[in-house]
Amino acid sequence: MAASKKPRYVDVSNPSLAVDCPHCGLRTARFVDHCRNCGYKLWPSTHMASAAFQAWRAADPARAEASRFDLEVPRHVDNTFDFTARARELGIHLFPNSNWPFTICAGCLFLGLAAIPFASTTRIVLAVIGGLIFLYGVVGWVIIEDVRMYPAEDASHTGEAHH
Ligand SMILES: [Zn+2]
Repeated sequence: MAASKKPRYVDVSNPSLAVDCPHCGLRTARFVDHCRNCGYKLWPSTHMASAAFQAWRAADPARAEASRFDLEVPRHVDNTFDFTARARELGIHLFPNSNWPFTICAGCLFLGLAAIPFASTTRIVLAVIGGLIFLYGVVGWVIIEDVRMYPAEDASHTGEAHH
């Protein structure tokens, strides 16, 4: 049994993790014992396939992160994208990330409480508190913070409307 687990015929110089299936001709993982497409037996046993994979992986440190179920060795590509810069380039106005909407919601809470039929004085007081918090939030977000983040926008695109 131990002998059958030895990776006897592994070409470790071949960097490919995928192989064309000899039965159906489609691409499949090289170190999985069955072809993914037609089920053709590529390796006598899953143990042998695994041992072969380990021998192949040990041959090159660049293969350390490979999985035998992959068709390619994973590469770490930095695909972070600056959407803010892109939006600026395209002239799309994005609102800044902000905590002001929470203030606006707190104002809405008091405005909502003012809608409950309490005594008139209570309702007026709640409405005034809610309105002030609401306006404070709107002014902070739309006027102060937004203008601070896009100071040149109005100057450079004078023809364009402020979205
Ligand atoms: Zn196949």
